[in-house]
Amino acid sequence: MCENTPAVQTTLPLDPRAAGEARRFLRAAICREHAASVLEGAELLVSELVTNGVRHAAPPITLRVACDGSRGLQVSVSDGEPAGPAPREAHDEAESGRGMSLVDYISDDWGVQPHQDGKTVWFTLSA
Ligand SMILES: [Zn+2]
Repeated sequence: MCENTPAVQTTLPLDPRAAGEARRFLRAAICREHAASVLEGAELLVSELVTNGVRHAAPPITLRVACDGSRGLQVSVSDGEPAGPAPREAHDEAESGRGMSLVDYISDDWGVQPHQDGKTVWFTLSA
């Protein structure tokens, strides 16, 4: 893990301001040593995941940002709805399908982790 920048998380409002708050939080939390070059891509993906979350998921929405040194930035968005998004599959709803295609295209890796209280959608980006 990164010795300079601790992992941090925040809870986002379940309304249209969420994506803007998520980008502000990311800009403040991101590791300047290891992740500055991937900030733009990370902002885009965080916006997609959070907007998706606000439309299709249940509160609370939690954003977590962590640096894993030279292995890159780790971002996850958790919410209280266990279902979807369908990983790497065509999706009925064009909007959320487009969102996850973008994550698939830009991130190094991503996934959906179901758990007892909902799910976590995560991605990694390395410089
Ligand atoms: Zn770092």
